[in-house]
Amino acid sequence: MKPWDVLVVGAGVAGLTVARQLTEQGAQVLVLDKSHRPGGRLATKNVGGLSLDSGCTHIRAADPEVRRLLTGWLGATFVEAPEGEAAEWAFPHSARDIAEQWAYGLKVQRTHVTHLVTGDAGHIGVVRHGFGEPIWGRSVVITAPVPQAQAMIAYSDLVLDYALDEVHYAKKQVLLAALEGDSLDPDSHWSTDIIESVRLRPHHDGSLGIEAFASDSWSEATWDDDATISHGRLLLELGLLVGSARVLDSQVMRWRYAQTASPRSEPYWRHPDLPGLWLAGDGFGYPTDADSSIERAVRSGMAVASDLGSSPG
Ligand SMILES: Cc1cc2nc3c(=O)[nH]c(=O)nc-3n(C[C@H](O)[C@H](O)[C@H](O)COP(=O)(O)OP(=O)(O)OC[C@H]3O[C@@H](n4cnc5c(N)ncnc54)[C@H](O)[C@@H]3O)c2cc1C
Repeated sequence: MKPWDVLVVGAGVAGLTVARQLTEQGAQVLVLDKSHRPGGRLATKNVGGLSLDSGCTHIRAADPEVRRLLTGWLGATFVEAPEGEAAEWAFPHSARDIAEQWAYGLKVQRTHVTHLVTGDAGHIGVVRHGFGEPIWGRSVVITAPVPQAQAMIAYSDLVLDYALDEVHYAKKQVLLAALEGDSLDPDSHWSTDIIESVRLRPHHDGSLGIEAFASDSWSEATWDDDATISHGRLLLELGLLVGSARVLDSQVMRWRYAQTASPRSEPYWRHPDLPGLWLAGDGFGYPTDADSSIERAVRSGMAVASDLGSSPG
Protein backbone atom coordinates (compact mmCIF):
# COMPACT_ATOMS: atom_id res chain seq x y z
CA MET A 1 0.00 0.00 0.00
CA LYS A 2 1.25 3.50 -0.88
CA PRO A 3 2.77 5.21 2.18
CA TRP A 4 1.36 8.49 3.47
CA ASP A 5 3.71 11.44 3.11
CA VAL A 6 3.33 12.16 6.82
CA LEU A 7 1.64 10.32 9.67
CA VAL A 8 1.00 12.49 12.71
CA VAL A 9 0.41 10.70 16.02
CA GLY A 10 -1.66 12.91 18.33
CA ALA A 11 -4.38 15.39 17.45
CA GLY A 12 -3.48 17.95 20.12
CA VAL A 13 -2.61 21.47 19.04
CA ALA A 14 0.96 20.49 18.11
CA GLY A 15 -0.20 17.60 15.89
CA LEU A 16 -3.03 19.61 14.35
CA THR A 17 -0.60 22.45 13.57
CA VAL A 18 1.87 20.11 11.84
CA ALA A 19 -0.91 18.35 9.93
CA ARG A 20 -2.72 21.49 8.84
CA GLN A 21 0.38 23.32 7.65
CA LEU A 22 1.63 20.32 5.65
CA THR A 23 -1.83 19.52 4.24
CA GLU A 24 -2.12 23.13 3.05
CA GLN A 25 1.23 22.65 1.30
CA GLY A 26 -0.23 19.67 -0.59
CA ALA A 27 1.19 16.76 1.45
CA GLN A 28 -0.87 13.62 2.08
CA VAL A 29 -1.20 13.64 5.86
CA LEU A 30 -3.09 11.31 8.21
CA VAL A 31 -3.56 12.14 11.90
CA LEU A 32 -3.97 9.27 14.40
CA ASP A 33 -5.35 9.84 17.88
CA LYS A 34 -6.58 7.50 20.59
CA SER A 35 -9.34 9.89 21.56
CA HIS A 36 -12.72 10.15 19.81
CA ARG A 37 -12.26 13.89 19.28
CA PRO A 38 -9.38 16.18 18.30
CA GLY A 39 -7.74 18.69 20.64
CA GLY A 40 -5.86 16.61 23.22
CA ARG A 41 -5.61 18.82 26.31
CA LEU A 42 -7.72 21.43 24.54
CA ALA A 43 -10.84 19.74 25.81
CA THR A 44 -14.37 20.33 27.05
CA LYS A 45 -16.33 18.17 29.46
CA ASN A 46 -19.98 18.05 30.34
CA VAL A 47 -20.52 18.74 34.04
CA GLY A 48 -24.03 19.13 35.38
CA GLY A 49 -25.33 19.83 31.89
CA LEU A 50 -22.79 22.61 31.31
CA SER A 51 -19.87 22.51 28.92
CA LEU A 52 -16.70 23.23 30.88
CA ASP A 53 -13.25 23.49 29.39
CA SER A 54 -11.11 21.03 31.28
CA GLY A 55 -7.81 22.32 29.93
CA CYS A 56 -6.83 25.46 28.13
CA THR A 57 -9.33 28.32 27.76
CA HIS A 58 -7.10 31.00 26.30
CA ILE A 59 -3.87 31.35 24.42
CA ARG A 60 -1.18 33.81 25.36
CA ALA A 61 1.32 34.30 22.59
CA ALA A 62 4.24 36.67 22.13
CA ASP A 63 5.23 35.23 18.76
CA PRO A 64 3.62 37.14 15.86
CA GLU A 65 3.91 34.04 13.64
CA VAL A 66 1.82 31.99 16.08
CA ARG A 67 -0.76 34.77 16.28
CA ARG A 68 -0.92 35.15 12.50
CA LEU A 69 -1.44 31.41 12.04
CA LEU A 70 -4.20 31.20 14.64
CA THR A 71 -5.90 34.31 13.33
CA GLY A 72 -5.98 32.81 9.84
CA TRP A 73 -7.18 29.38 10.91
CA LEU A 74 -9.41 30.15 13.86
CA GLY A 75 -10.34 33.82 13.52
CA ALA A 76 -8.45 34.46 16.76
CA THR A 77 -8.46 38.06 17.95
CA PHE A 78 -5.46 38.62 20.18
CA VAL A 79 -5.70 41.52 22.59
CA GLU A 80 -2.47 43.24 23.60
CA ALA A 81 -2.06 43.03 27.37
CA PRO A 82 -0.90 46.04 29.38
CA GLU A 83 2.59 46.30 30.86
CA GLY A 84 4.33 44.52 28.05
CA GLU A 85 2.70 41.11 28.65
CA ALA A 86 2.01 38.81 25.73
CA ALA A 87 -1.14 39.28 23.67
CA GLU A 88 -3.97 36.97 24.66
CA TRP A 89 -6.92 35.34 22.94
CA ALA A 90 -9.76 34.10 25.15
CA PHE A 91 -11.78 31.40 23.41
CA PRO A 92 -15.19 32.70 22.32
CA HIS A 93 -16.53 29.11 22.15
CA SER A 94 -15.80 25.92 24.02
CA ALA A 95 -12.30 24.49 23.65
CA ARG A 96 -13.89 21.49 21.90
CA ASP A 97 -15.27 23.78 19.17
CA ILE A 98 -11.91 25.52 18.81
CA ALA A 99 -10.22 22.13 18.42
CA GLU A 100 -12.77 21.03 15.78
CA GLN A 101 -12.06 24.23 13.86
CA TRP A 102 -8.32 23.58 14.15
CA ALA A 103 -8.84 20.09 12.72
CA TYR A 104 -11.02 21.35 9.88
CA GLY A 105 -10.26 19.60 6.59
CA LEU A 106 -7.80 17.11 8.10
CA LYS A 107 -8.01 13.35 7.89
CA VAL A 108 -8.16 12.13 11.49
CA GLN A 109 -8.44 8.46 12.46
CA ARG A 110 -9.28 7.24 15.95
CA THR A 111 -6.76 4.61 16.94
CA HIS A 112 -4.33 3.82 19.74
CA VAL A 113 -0.75 3.72 18.50
CA THR A 114 1.44 1.21 20.34
CA HIS A 115 4.78 1.37 18.55
CA LEU A 116 6.61 1.75 15.23
CA VAL A 117 8.33 -0.59 12.81
CA THR A 118 10.80 0.20 10.09
CA GLY A 119 10.39 -0.82 6.46
CA ASP A 120 11.97 -0.46 3.05
CA ALA A 121 13.26 2.87 1.73
CA GLY A 122 13.27 4.40 5.21
CA HIS A 123 9.48 4.14 5.51
CA ILE A 124 8.09 3.93 9.02
CA GLY A 125 5.12 1.76 9.99
CA VAL A 126 2.79 2.87 12.75
CA VAL A 127 1.34 -0.10 14.63
CA ARG A 128 -2.14 0.37 16.08
CA HIS A 129 -3.62 -1.55 18.98
CA GLY A 130 -5.83 -4.33 17.65
CA PHE A 131 -4.63 -4.07 14.04
CA GLY A 132 -2.10 -6.47 12.50
CA GLU A 133 -1.01 -4.39 9.55
CA PRO A 134 0.85 -1.13 10.24
CA ILE A 135 0.06 2.10 8.39
CA TRP A 136 3.10 3.30 6.49
CA GLY A 137 4.48 6.80 6.21
CA ARG A 138 7.56 8.42 4.70
CA SER A 139 7.73 10.48 7.87
CA VAL A 140 6.11 10.06 11.27
CA VAL A 141 5.62 12.92 13.74
CA ILE A 142 4.77 11.86 17.29
CA THR A 143 3.11 14.62 19.29
CA ALA A 144 1.81 12.54 22.20
CA PRO A 145 2.94 13.81 25.62
CA VAL A 146 6.55 12.91 26.40
CA PRO A 147 5.91 9.76 28.52
CA GLN A 148 3.61 8.22 25.90
CA ALA A 149 6.02 9.20 23.12
CA GLN A 150 8.85 7.63 25.12
CA ALA A 151 6.87 4.40 25.50
CA MET A 152 6.17 4.22 21.76
CA ILE A 153 9.87 4.65 21.00
CA ALA A 154 10.90 2.10 23.62
CA TYR A 155 8.43 -0.54 22.36
CA SER A 156 9.83 0.07 18.88
CA ASP A 157 13.28 -0.99 20.11
CA LEU A 158 14.67 2.40 19.21
CA VAL A 159 17.25 4.09 21.37
CA LEU A 160 16.43 7.38 23.09
CA ASP A 161 18.99 10.04 23.72
CA TYR A 162 19.67 11.14 27.30
CA ALA A 163 17.58 14.32 27.18
CA LEU A 164 14.43 12.40 26.31
CA ASP A 165 15.04 9.82 29.00
CA GLU A 166 15.00 12.57 31.59
CA VAL A 167 11.40 13.58 32.11
CA HIS A 168 10.12 15.97 34.71
CA TYR A 169 6.58 15.43 36.06
CA ALA A 170 4.28 17.85 37.81
CA LYS A 171 0.85 16.93 39.13
CA LYS A 172 -2.11 19.28 39.06
CA GLN A 173 -5.63 18.84 40.35
CA VAL A 174 -8.44 20.56 38.52
CA LEU A 175 -11.92 20.91 39.91
CA LEU A 176 -14.62 21.37 37.32
CA ALA A 177 -17.84 22.61 38.85
CA ALA A 178 -21.19 23.85 37.63
CA LEU A 179 -22.33 26.63 39.96
CA GLU A 180 -25.44 28.70 40.47
CA GLY A 181 -25.30 31.97 42.38
CA ASP A 182 -26.33 35.59 42.37
CA SER A 183 -23.21 37.48 43.41
CA LEU A 184 -20.62 36.09 41.09
CA ASP A 185 -18.35 38.37 39.17
CA PRO A 186 -17.20 36.68 35.97
CA ASP A 187 -14.14 38.94 35.86
CA SER A 188 -12.90 37.90 39.27
CA HIS A 189 -9.74 35.94 39.71
CA TRP A 190 -9.14 34.50 43.15
CA SER A 191 -6.16 33.00 44.76
CA THR A 192 -5.85 31.12 48.04
CA ASP A 193 -3.48 28.63 49.61
CA ILE A 194 -5.45 25.71 48.29
CA ILE A 195 -6.97 26.94 45.08
CA GLU A 196 -4.31 28.49 42.92
CA SER A 197 -6.59 30.06 40.39
CA VAL A 198 -10.19 30.02 39.31
CA ARG A 199 -11.62 30.57 35.86
CA LEU A 200 -15.25 31.37 35.21
CA ARG A 201 -17.35 30.78 32.13
CA PRO A 202 -20.81 32.37 32.38
CA HIS A 203 -23.66 30.68 30.54
CA HIS A 204 -26.65 32.33 28.96
CA ASP A 205 -29.06 30.55 31.31
CA GLY A 206 -27.46 32.35 34.27
CA SER A 207 -25.47 29.40 35.52
CA LEU A 208 -21.74 29.47 35.68
CA GLY A 209 -19.01 27.01 34.78
CA ILE A 210 -15.94 27.11 36.92
CA GLU A 211 -12.47 25.63 36.79
CA ALA A 212 -10.43 25.71 39.96
CA PHE A 213 -6.78 24.78 39.81
CA ALA A 214 -5.47 23.42 43.08
CA SER A 215 -2.02 24.48 44.13
CA ASP A 216 0.92 22.10 44.21
CA SER A 217 0.95 22.31 48.02
CA TRP A 218 -2.64 21.06 48.07
CA SER A 219 -1.64 18.22 45.74
CA GLU A 220 1.18 17.23 48.07
CA ALA A 221 -0.89 17.60 51.22
CA THR A 222 -3.68 15.42 49.90
CA TRP A 223 -1.56 12.89 48.04
CA ASP A 224 -2.52 10.10 50.48
CA ASP A 225 -6.03 11.32 51.20
CA ASP A 226 -9.15 9.72 49.96
CA ALA A 227 -10.19 11.44 46.74
CA THR A 228 -13.67 12.13 48.09
CA ILE A 229 -12.31 13.99 51.09
CA SER A 230 -9.99 16.01 48.87
CA HIS A 231 -12.86 16.82 46.59
CA GLY A 232 -14.94 17.86 49.59
CA ARG A 233 -12.18 20.16 50.80
CA LEU A 234 -11.98 21.80 47.43
CA LEU A 235 -15.72 22.37 47.36
CA LEU A 236 -15.60 23.80 50.85
CA GLU A 237 -12.94 26.27 49.76
CA LEU A 238 -15.01 27.14 46.73
CA GLY A 239 -18.00 27.80 48.96
CA LEU A 240 -15.89 30.21 51.03
CA LEU A 241 -14.65 31.94 47.92
CA VAL A 242 -18.00 32.25 46.23
CA GLY A 243 -20.37 32.75 49.12
CA SER A 244 -23.76 32.61 47.49
CA ALA A 245 -22.96 29.85 45.07
CA ARG A 246 -24.70 26.52 45.06
CA VAL A 247 -22.67 23.73 43.53
CA LEU A 248 -24.85 21.92 41.00
CA ASP A 249 -22.34 19.31 40.01
CA SER A 250 -18.60 18.87 40.12
CA GLN A 251 -15.73 16.54 39.39
CA VAL A 252 -12.04 16.53 40.16
CA MET A 253 -9.64 15.76 37.38
CA ARG A 254 -6.00 14.90 37.81
CA TRP A 255 -3.63 16.08 35.18
CA ARG A 256 0.00 15.17 34.95
CA TYR A 257 2.33 17.48 33.10
CA ALA A 258 5.59 16.11 31.82
CA GLN A 259 8.41 17.61 29.91
CA THR A 260 11.99 16.81 29.11
CA ALA A 261 14.14 17.77 32.04
CA SER A 262 17.20 18.90 30.12
CA PRO A 263 16.93 22.13 28.17
CA ARG A 264 16.91 21.35 24.47
CA SER A 265 18.23 23.43 21.65
CA GLU A 266 15.46 22.56 19.17
CA PRO A 267 11.67 22.69 19.49
CA TYR A 268 11.46 19.02 18.47
CA TRP A 269 13.51 15.83 18.61
CA ARG A 270 14.54 13.92 15.53
CA HIS A 271 15.76 10.35 15.73
CA PRO A 272 19.44 10.18 14.77
CA ASP A 273 19.17 6.73 13.13
CA LEU A 274 15.74 7.20 11.63
CA PRO A 275 15.56 10.70 10.11
CA GLY A 276 11.88 10.29 9.19
CA LEU A 277 10.91 10.14 12.86
CA TRP A 278 10.14 13.42 14.66
CA LEU A 279 8.89 14.10 18.18
CA ALA A 280 7.20 17.37 19.05
CA GLY A 281 4.71 19.01 21.41
CA ASP A 282 4.67 21.18 24.50
CA GLY A 283 6.91 18.81 26.45
CA PHE A 284 10.00 19.79 24.57
CA GLY A 285 11.63 22.36 26.85
CA TYR A 286 12.45 24.81 24.07
CA PRO A 287 11.53 27.56 23.60
CA THR A 288 11.42 28.03 27.35
CA ASP A 289 10.72 31.72 26.83
CA ALA A 290 7.32 30.96 25.27
CA ASP A 291 4.58 32.79 27.10
CA SER A 292 2.39 29.76 27.53
CA SER A 293 2.73 26.05 27.07
CA ILE A 294 0.17 26.13 24.29
CA GLU A 295 2.31 28.65 22.44
CA ARG A 296 5.24 26.26 22.94
CA ALA A 297 3.19 23.39 21.48
CA VAL A 298 2.11 25.45 18.46
CA ARG A 299 5.63 26.71 17.83
CA SER A 300 6.94 23.17 18.08
CA GLY A 301 4.38 22.06 15.46
CA MET A 302 5.22 25.01 13.21
CA ALA A 303 8.94 24.21 13.36
CA VAL A 304 8.36 20.56 12.43
CA ALA A 305 6.08 21.51 9.52
CA SER A 306 8.56 24.04 8.24
CA ASP A 307 11.64 21.81 8.54
CA LEU A 308 9.89 18.64 7.41
CA GLY A 309 8.31 20.49 4.50
CA SER A 310 11.70 21.64 3.29
CA SER A 311 13.56 18.34 3.96
CA PRO A 312 11.30 15.29 4.15
CA GLY A 313 12.87 12.39 6.05
C1 LIG B 1 -5.97 21.62 33.09
C2 LIG B 1 -5.07 22.25 32.08
C3 LIG B 1 -5.10 23.62 31.92
C4 LIG B 1 -4.27 24.25 30.99
N1 LIG B 1 -4.31 25.59 30.84
C5 LIG B 1 -3.50 26.17 29.94
C6 LIG B 1 -3.54 27.59 29.75
O1 LIG B 1 -4.32 28.30 30.35
N2 LIG B 1 -2.68 28.14 28.83
C7 LIG B 1 -1.82 27.37 28.11
O2 LIG B 1 -1.05 27.89 27.30
N3 LIG B 1 -1.78 26.04 28.25
C8 LIG B 1 -2.59 25.43 29.15
N4 LIG B 1 -2.54 24.09 29.31
C9 LIG B 1 -1.55 23.34 28.54
C10 LIG B 1 -2.02 23.14 27.09
O3 LIG B 1 -3.31 22.60 27.11
C11 LIG B 1 -1.00 22.18 26.45
O4 LIG B 1 0.27 22.80 26.45
C12 LIG B 1 -1.31 21.85 25.00
O5 LIG B 1 -2.68 21.56 24.81
C13 LIG B 1 -0.45 20.65 24.61
O6 LIG B 1 -0.68 20.32 23.26
P1 LIG B 1 0.08 19.08 22.60
O7 LIG B 1 -0.42 18.96 21.23
O8 LIG B 1 1.56 19.24 22.80
O9 LIG B 1 -0.30 17.80 23.49
P2 LIG B 1 -1.74 17.12 23.78
O10 LIG B 1 -2.81 18.13 23.77
O11 LIG B 1 -1.56 16.29 25.00
O12 LIG B 1 -1.98 16.16 22.51
C14 LIG B 1 -1.42 14.88 22.45
C15 LIG B 1 -2.41 13.93 21.79
O13 LIG B 1 -1.78 12.65 21.67
C16 LIG B 1 -2.77 11.67 21.82
N5 LIG B 1 -2.11 10.40 22.16
C17 LIG B 1 -1.38 10.13 23.27
N6 LIG B 1 -0.96 8.86 23.23
C18 LIG B 1 -1.43 8.33 22.08
C19 LIG B 1 -1.34 7.04 21.49
N7 LIG B 1 -0.66 6.04 22.07
N8 LIG B 1 -1.96 6.82 20.28
C20 LIG B 1 -2.66 7.82 19.69
N9 LIG B 1 -2.78 9.07 20.22
C21 LIG B 1 -2.17 9.31 21.39
C22 LIG B 1 -3.65 12.22 22.93
O14 LIG B 1 -4.95 11.61 22.88
C23 LIG B 1 -3.68 13.71 22.59
O15 LIG B 1 -4.81 14.04 21.80
C24 LIG B 1 -3.39 23.46 30.20
C25 LIG B 1 -3.39 22.06 30.35
C26 LIG B 1 -4.22 21.46 31.27
C27 LIG B 1 -4.20 19.98 31.40
